[in-house]
Amino acid sequence: MKSLHTSVRASDTIAVGRAFVVTRQSATVVADRGSESEEIERFDAALQSSIAQIEVLAESNDIFAAHLEIASDEMLRDSVVEYIGSGSSATEACQSACGDLVAMFAAMDDEYLSARADDIKDIFARITANLLGGVVNPFEGVKQGDIIVAKELLPSDMALIDLGAIRGFVTALGSTTSHVCIMARNHSLAAVVGLGEQVAQIAMGDMLIVDSIEGGVIVNPDSQTLDSYLVRELNLEALRKEQQAVAQNGVEYQGEKVAVMANAGSVEDVVKAIESGADGIGLFRSEFLYLNSSVEPTEDEQYEAYSAAARACGGRPLTIRTLDIGGDKAVPYLGFEREENPFLGWRAIRVSLDMEQMFCRQLRAILRASSEGDVRVMFPMITTIEELAGAKAVLEKCKAELKAEGVAHNQNIKVGVMIETPAAVLIADSLAEQCDFFSIGTNDLVQYIMAADRANIKVSHLYNPYSAAVVKAIKMTIVSAVKAGVECGMCGELASDSSAVEMLLEAGLRKFSVNTGSIAKIKYTITKTKTN
Ligand code: PEP
Ligand code: MG
Repeated sequence: MKSLHTSVRASDTIAVGRAFVVTRQSATVVADRGSESEEIERFDAALQSSIAQIEVLAESNDIFAAHLEIASDEMLRDSVVEYIGSGSSATEACQSACGDLVAMFAAMDDEYLSARADDIKDIFARITANLLGGVVNPFEGVKQGDIIVAKELLPSDMALIDLGAIRGFVTALGSTTSHVCIMARNHSLAAVVGLGEQVAQIAMGDMLIVDSIEGGVIVNPDSQTLDSYLVRELNLEALRKEQQAVAQNGVEYQGEKVAVMANAGSVEDVVKAIESGADGIGLFRSEFLYLNSSVEPTEDEQYEAYSAAARACGGRPLTIRTLDIGGDKAVPYLGFEREENPFLGWRAIRVSLDMEQMFCRQLRAILRASSEGDVRVMFPMITTIEELAGAKAVLEKCKAELKAEGVAHNQNIKVGVMIETPAAVLIADSLAEQCDFFSIGTNDLVQYIMAADRANIKVSHLYNPYSAAVVKAIKMTIVSAVKAGVECGMCGELASDSSAVEMLLEAGLRKFSVNTGSIAKIKYTITKTKTN
């Protein structure tokens, strides 16, 4: 029996099963090279084969629609060709170009942008496999109940794995925001990632206990340990079933309705959230439209996405957050400059107010979609009343334009503010007079209140949503909202934490916006809250 450990919190379940150790095709870099034109020709042929394969996959899986855009982007080809031009073989050039692009994205502290880094690795792995003679499915032979063990799992791997059949994942690389963890949480699978070299201690067919709660893997446990985990696994399974039973119900606290909505980053997320029992979407991150494209999405493209999301909500609220980009989240075609302090820099509403035409295109699209459902608009990173006033003035201008053009929209669209900066907390009473709702964004609020970068492991003890200062700020915000009669929700990660439910309900929070995988758990916890 061996125990492996990680500090990464990937999901919140336990699984027992046999290891299926993934062996990849050797991606040894071929240094032998032909002439420059021969290498470019080899690369182009591999790229074309990759694009053709991705096109087929994209018909049934949206992950690949994003891959298709990236693979077809001139920037990708140019960066490889440049390396070939300076003497690399096609495979070496792919490895170098991939490293550059991945480093660029991985440095960004954002779930969606980190996921782009995985997509890039994934595409280059495919191109390299095609260069070396073809793509094989490394998951052939996975059996019901297996636990997948790999150095790394990329988005396209997920499309090859039957997520209904396996019990979990164990990987050497990966962080809590990597794709494998998001999938594990959404599918209630166990996952332990970031184990590094320890993964090599697992062999094909080993019996594994994967404990995502403690961040540990036990390899070939003795029978006593195995029995105790099998009991825990059964108990967790029974609890999950109980939770699932309330997922589709409305829930109340002290006779008042409590909405449990979901956070979504795409139209597909909205569909899944509603199927999973969400009472609406409390945070629709509009960034994906801008990041999955090599040019700014047009007003019509945005309208298509927002209205599809509104229809998927079927009359439930859809809260669209305007573009939260900037600082470390660079969109190449917007020409952002590198900043010394990106989190304190030009991001979110600051960018939108400075790029008014782009902001208008987004607001017009949101307004047009507002005629097709209960669409609400929410502004990120507000720190002053003037910013809110400025954003509302642009919104009014867009309404007037649409009215003059005879285009349908909701003149009374609800306007909300993300409370994610200490400044917003301190002026919450004034903001409340000027908007219809608040949504507390604890992910940023914690880092700004505690002056602790959410991605810096050395200060992670300070990045704590239960810190006295953060709890006080949350309570102050809710009190201001209740006093002013505006709705107050929470869409940061703390809303998905069942341990926070009682404190938040007592403080007066009646709207939770959570990860889709947490809807049942949070609804269940609300129904079980003591004072209920
Ligand atoms: C937040 O800051 O809590 C939030 C929901 O926004 P994001 O995580 O997208 O920055
Ligand atoms: Mg935020």
